[in-house]
This record gives sequence, C-alpha cells and structure tokens, in this order.
Amino acid sequence: MATPAEARVDLAAIRHNVALLKERTGAELMGAVKADAYGHGLVPCSRAALEGGASRLGVAFVREALELRAAGVTAPVLAWLITPGEPLDEALTHDVELSAADARLLDEIAGAARRTGRTARLHLEADTGMSRGGAPLAAWPGLLARALELAAEGVVEIVGLWSHFACADVPGHPSVQQQLEAYHTALKLAEQAGAAGSHVIRHLANSAAALTLPEARYDLVRPGIAMYGLSPIPEQGGFGLRPAMTLVAQAALVKRVPQDSGVSYGHLYTTERETHLALVPLGYADGILRHATGRAEVLAGGRRRRVAGRVCMDQFMIDLGDDLLAAGDEVVLFGPGDGGEPTAQEWADSLGTITHEIVTRIGSRVPRVHTSTGA
Ligand SMILES: *Cc1c(COP(=O)(O)O)cnc(C)c1O
Repeated sequence: MATPAEARVDLAAIRHNVALLKERTGAELMGAVKADAYGHGLVPCSRAALEGGASRLGVAFVREALELRAAGVTAPVLAWLITPGEPLDEALTHDVELSAADARLLDEIAGAARRTGRTARLHLEADTGMSRGGAPLAAWPGLLARALELAAEGVVEIVGLWSHFACADVPGHPSVQQQLEAYHTALKLAEQAGAAGSHVIRHLANSAAALTLPEARYDLVRPGIAMYGLSPIPEQGGFGLRPAMTLVAQAALVKRVPQDSGVSYGHLYTTERETHLALVPLGYADGILRHATGRAEVLAGGRRRRVAGRVCMDQFMIDLGDDLLAAGDEVVLFGPGDGGEPTAQEWADSLGTITHEIVTRIGSRVPRVHTSTGA
C-alpha cells in the first residue's frame, strides 16, 4: 500500500449483487450511484453495475450525471434532485434525464430545452407519503397538466412516473401500504390525463422494497445500498449480497507504553498495564466518526481491537496488549467479514447509524482501489 489507507472495492461483488437483484426482482434496474456510488467510486462502480445487468443509473445531482458522461458512460442517467441554477442546458446536451415535482422546475427545464433544441426527458415525482421530494397528490394533476402542455410543444417528453418510500426498511410499517395505494392513485391520475403511455417507466422501489415487496417493483427498481452488498434490512440478514468495500490502513507507528498511559485527546482510554499501542492513520476527516471512540472494532494482527481513546482528525490508536504489529502491517476496519474483520454493518450498529452513512462518509483522502476478484 503506497498510501496510509485505502478503500478496496471489489467490482465482481457489485456485478454479483446487481445480477442477484435483477434475478430476484425480474424488473429493470436503475443503479443508484449518487454520492460517488455510496463512496465506492462513481465511474468504475457504474460500469460494474451496467455489466451486472443494470440498464440505467440514477444520481441526485446534475453534476454527478455529467461526471458519468465525461467518463464516457452512455447509459440512461436520471438526476432526481435538481436545484435552481443547476446546469440544465448541459444536462440536456448530454442526454441526462431529469426529475421534476413542481411547475417552477418544469418551466426552468423547458427553458433549457428551448435554448438547446433538445427534448427534455422527464421523470415526474409524486409525493406518496414521504413528504420529502415529489408533488403532493393535490398538486399532481396540475403538474401532469403542465408537463403535458410542454410535451405538446415538443420541449419535454414524459418518460417516467416515480416516487420513493419512507419506511420500506421497516417491514409491516403501515405507511408502506399507504404509499403503495397513493402511488397507484398517482398512476391512475396520470393515465386519465394521458401521461402514462406504455413507454412510460413506473418506478418506486429502493433496495428494501425491491427485495421484500414484489408489488412495489413495477417496471424498474432503484437499489442503492444492496448493490454495494450491504443489507437494506439487517434484521432480515444479508439476502445473499456480497459487501464490496474493504477499508484498510497500515499501522503507522507501534510502540510500547507503560501502565496508566492516558491515550489520545481527553485521555478517555488509559492502559491497564504495560502494552503495545498502534497508530492507525485514519480519522474523522476520513469519515471515521469521532463517535467511534471506544466503540468500533478493527482487525489487527489476527484479532479484533477496539478503538482506544478519541478518534482524532487524521488518526486513532488501538491497544495490542502483548501482541506486536510492524509499521506497515495492515489494519482492517471493515470488509465482507470473511477474514474475521468487522463488517460495515457492525460499524453502523456500534455507532447507532446505517451502513449508507458508514460508506458514504469515507473521505477524499482515502483512495478507492478497484479490484475484481471474480470470486
Ligand atoms: C438513494 C435512493 C435510492 C436507493 O436507496 P437504497 O436504500 O440505498 O436502496 C433510490 N431512490 C432514490 C430516490 C434515492 O434517493
């Protein structure tokens, strides 16, 4: 390892997970590759997803879609979180599909279409009960009507009708059925308005819904976390998914310290006896949350060790006891778990969060190294 730490990403695992999701759902698949493919590296993971059977990619922001285009990725890409002033002309020139949920954005998109001479490919988003993005059902008919006017003018084409679940990861949550019903209503209204032709793609399911709610699959599913091999519903197991990322660092310094040594800022950890400490060169600037202090575990020298004392900006310590590591020896923070290392799920559990946050927060100082085990 030429760098202090690296995130190894197994592209074969991503291909495997996408193929598994396609087989389980029998639907078309849009790989959610927002936020640098959940921290796994946008372009290589997007290519792996497409190789595994995804036919489309989904990102939050136009900028992310343009990054894919700049890298030569030609598959359909949807950007679903458009903010005022985003480069819509460029988006249309590069065939980026856009989501819209209000007339203001529709008009902005129409302006870009008129300027560029391109027809904007639109996915209209309905708020079926998450109260985040999307048009509330009361505003949905108006949104459809405006989009149809613009379609008649030739500046937009409605290619998708979609929504998003709030609680699909909580099986049996009453909102799930309510959202399914609201989505059904939204589709009915679209049909009545003439906005739901047979070519229009209906999509609703994130990873959790794709794996557990057949009635939510419609034409296409939009998994994110499951593609990276992490379970969308940990209480229900791993679904046969393979975690793609292994986060490793090399021990930067190993030293013998006396009993009662206070370790790191605030001396939150004190050695119980004479021991070896190892310095791991990853810190909260790299996404190792300060909250991991005294909680999360790593694998070093064949054994689990807990983070000893405060996580600093660039580093944290572990207590090796009588064991020794050499500087340069690998410390594994998390991975698939095959070699005894913790999983991202264990990190999430020990920090009271979800794996999405664990992997997306890994900072830009940590290179992503893409491999393909084919295993
Ligand atoms: C992030 C996201 C997804 C993927 O969600 P997962 O829970 O990671 O599967 C799907 N759709 C939208 C709109 C999203 O924002």
